[in-house]
Amino acid sequence: MGADADRDGTVDDRVAAGSDDAQLVSSDLVRGATAPATGRAVVAVGVADDDDADPLLLGQDPDATARMQDADFDPADTLDPDREVEELELSRCALTISVQTSRIDVSLIAGRGEVVAAQRIPASSLAVDADADSIFDMLIGSVDSVLHAVGIEPDEATALPGIGVVTTGRIDSAGGTVSPPGLPAWQAFPLRDKLSDHYQLAVKLLSSAAAVCAGEHWRGAARGRRSALGLVLGNGIDGAVVIDGRFVGGTTGNAGHIGHVCVDPYGPACACGGRGCLEAVAGGAAIAEWARTHGGTDPSADAAEVAEAARRGDPVALATFRRAGEAIGQAVAGVVTLLDLDVVVVGGPLIAAGPVLFDPIADGYHRFAALGYAAPARVVPALLGRDGGQIGAAAAVLEPAVYPVG
Ligand SMILES: [Zn+2]
Repeated sequence: MGADADRDGTVDDRVAAGSDDAQLVSSDLVRGATAPATGRAVVAVGVADDDDADPLLLGQDPDATARMQDADFDPADTLDPDREVEELELSRCALTISVQTSRIDVSLIAGRGEVVAAQRIPASSLAVDADADSIFDMLIGSVDSVLHAVGIEPDEATALPGIGVVTTGRIDSAGGTVSPPGLPAWQAFPLRDKLSDHYQLAVKLLSSAAAVCAGEHWRGAARGRRSALGLVLGNGIDGAVVIDGRFVGGTTGNAGHIGHVCVDPYGPACACGGRGCLEAVAGGAAIAEWARTHGGTDPSADAAEVAEAARRGDPVALATFRRAGEAIGQAVAGVVTLLDLDVVVVGGPLIAAGPVLFDPIADGYHRFAALGYAAPARVVPALLGRDGGQIGAAAAVLEPAVYPVG
């Protein structure tokens, strides 16, 4: 995730399926099955937006499952919360850690992308005055709890192939540091080495866009597709690409930064220093700003609220999303024409807007994808919901040849 996309730290907070997913599920504690072969408690997990909810969250995201069933998916590949896992093959399980602005999620993800156990450190525990080491200690406690939930002692963790970390904010790949916005104690924090030293495991560090793209290609909407663009729409816009079945990083690891592709050379100035970048036209912050300056009824509305107004038929909000969606379609058409992709998967909180966003994207896409090979590519919503980033981080650990990232 580029620094611009996260500069306010909100991109991945509600990543992938958007706030609609947030209705959770369940705060019941025990809905797992005990695997007879190992005695390990197998815990299916969902997601909550409620930081006050019990941090050990169980159940499966029903929206994500519904979306999977809507698509042409093999039902055997959907995530079934009631499925009993006969035995966890530790060499095919990845620990994942998702560092977001307001929470840290820890999961154990198995080889088909199943989240088998998880725990959340909520915002209320990440107090602004907490120091770096105490947050790290909290994280270690959560990782140990997740391991314990499936019958793994911390000193057995070396049986796992590694840890995948997905984070908002700037990543320094060389130094292994993270700088999640909203977590001041963890600016340039050397998370990779500290985790690696503690658990004696390899640690992969991924941006949100890279992780969402890898997750959607491994187990989501782009599964089985040869070449795909994954796009994350939040306040910022970012992306990543898979070409010929392999995740592509580019020269500096920044391939896919679609948010800073120009869609209007006379458009608004962008935080990157450019002009008319997709993010400056169609990112969440730009959407809120355009609605506010074009007669939006609620001048303080954020992009999610503008989307709600659009769904109610508000003409300014509809025009705002039409402008943004067509710009996204234009940019995506350029990428597909350049790279000859099969599918474009759109995730991030803004996809909760639904047809008021996707219809203009389709219109913009078909207007600008003029060449015959580009026209049939599909632009589809992400399937994996808020787990998508962690599932992508697991992909980087479990399938490093396909997803050589981190
Ligand atoms: Zn820019």
